[in-house]
Order: sequence, then C-alpha cells, then structure tokens
Amino acid sequence: MSAPYPWLESTWTRLLASRARPAQALLLAGPQGIGKAELAQRWAQTLLCESPAADGAACDICAACHWFEAGSHPDFLRVTLLEKTTKDNEIRLASGLEVDQAREAVEFVQLSTYRAGTRVVLVDPADSLNLAAANALLKVLEEPPLNTVFILVSNQPRRLLPTIRSRCTRVDIGLPDAHIATRWLEDRQLKDAGVLLALSGGAPLQALRWAEGSESGARQGVLESLALPERLDPITEGERWKTLSPQAWHGFTYRWLCDMLAAKLQGRVRFNPDFETALVQLGKQVNLTSLLALARTQAEEGRTLTHPLNRSLQLQAWLSRYRRLFD
Ligand SMILES: [Zn+2]
Repeated sequence: MSAPYPWLESTWTRLLASRARPAQALLLAGPQGIGKAELAQRWAQTLLCESPAADGAACDICAACHWFEAGSHPDFLRVTLLEKTTKDNEIRLASGLEVDQAREAVEFVQLSTYRAGTRVVLVDPADSLNLAAANALLKVLEEPPLNTVFILVSNQPRRLLPTIRSRCTRVDIGLPDAHIATRWLEDRQLKDAGVLLALSGGAPLQALRWAEGSESGARQGVLESLALPERLDPITEGERWKTLSPQAWHGFTYRWLCDMLAAKLQGRVRFNPDFETALVQLGKQVNLTSLLALARTQAEEGRTLTHPLNRSLQLQAWLSRYRRLFD
C-alpha cells in the first residue's frame, strides 16, 4: 500500500517510519482538498493490519485489512459529521461533532480490544468538535489507554482547543507542488487542469470535485458577463443565473472580486488565470473603495448562504452594485 496521492509520498514515508512506535495522538493538518482524509484512513488501516509489508504498510489481504475495507473492523472508530434530515427532507451534514460522539469514542477506547492489537480512533474534521465534545475527548487524549492511537484531521488547526493541539504530534501538510498536481489532474483527463487548480487555490482534489461538479460549466458564462460590465444588463443576467446554487454563484463572483483586487494592487491574478487580461484591464477602471466594500460584504455573506425566495431580484441587486464599481 502506497501513499494515496503522489504529493503525499514524503509524509507517508515519514508515517511508515514511525509505525513501530506511532504517535498516540496524531494531528494531520493542512488545507482542504489535498487528501488528508485518505491519508488518515490508510494510516489507520496500516496500524491495524496484522501482516504488514516490509516497509510497514498495510498488506491489503489479511483479515484485519478486509474488515477495515468493509468498514467493520471492531477496533476502529471513525468520528465524523453525521447526516441529518432537515424539515424539508433534505439530507445535510451536521455542522459539528457532538458531545455524544466524543463520549462514544471515550467508551470505545476503554473497552478491551477485539484483536488484541492496536485500536484506532479517527476524528475528521477535528476542528468541528464543539467545546463540550472537545473537552470530553481531551480526557482520553491526556492519558490514552494502552495500544490506542488517535488520528485527528483538520483544515483549520487553529480552531482546535490549544490543550488538544498540545497533546498531539502534529504533521503539517502543505499544498502540493503545482507541476505534480497539474500532471495528476491531466492524468485524469481533466481539461484546463492548470486553470482548475488555480481556481481551487492549489488543492487538486478540490479541483477534481469542481470539474466533476455540474455547475463548473456555468463559470465561463458568468465570468464573461462580469468581464464586460458596461454591457452587463442586471435584469437579463439575474434571470439567467437564478437557478445556479448560491454557493456556486458566491464562489465565482467572490474569486472574481479577489482577482480584480490582486490585479489592481499587484498586477496579477490567482484564481482565474484564463481571464487575466480582462481582470487587469478592469482593475485599472475600478473604484478601489467600492471594490473593497463589495468584496467585504461578499466575504461576510459567504458564511451564511441561503436560498432566498426571489433569487433573480437578489442577483439583479448584486449585478447593479457590481456595475457601479466602474462608474
Ligand atoms: Zn493487512
């Protein structure tokens, strides 16, 4: 069993080297969309494998590996966000890890192990532990039972309780080298791999999800309209994009504003390299104060995206405000 992605090779080797005496509480930290969850899963399987390969990695064929892959290893517990059904019968992920889940983990590590080997608790995303849950978990992290390994995964380790962070051996994983990530995306037959990678802030799995998402095709159209503010008709465009999800719209427009700001201040863009010429041009025309104000509003709205009753009116208002940036 090798690293799940080529850019995780060195971290994986480092973990394998520690297999004989693994960290009892490991914190895998790094940006979203780089494969931390898969890495954590592989590490858990490796610790539970009963006939590891010479390099220490899981064999994929022993009984323990089979159970793990079937999601039924009795000495493995995964603590993750639960699915909940909303009033409108939509299935959503819970917003945080709850205290009952942490208590379950505490009970789990106090039982004796089934296979008389290692026991693994994987907490992902660890930064979603609410305060009560974090405190419950802290007790066992401070004095973990014998042969117990905790693996915590976090995109935002600063949001973890300092007392939890300090109990963990932290492994930071940065964004992959852009060439390696682009090549990996191209191997998956992705068109415009470089552009998608930039749009995703350098996180290849995010880029892949994006490419597979049904809404990424709308991006081109939205940005083409934004690139020509003097011809933009808020009413027509508001109607045109009203069925796009608020998340997609927000993502396209927010990254567009960020790029315009970067173009104006630094002469280069980060997210939309395929529109760089237009952005640099708009950056020269735009009113900086108004742009900053709109970008700030947009950043705040990003935290509370909902679908309003009259979506096209809301879009019209945004588009009108956008057009006034260039008055
Ligand atoms: Zn095995």
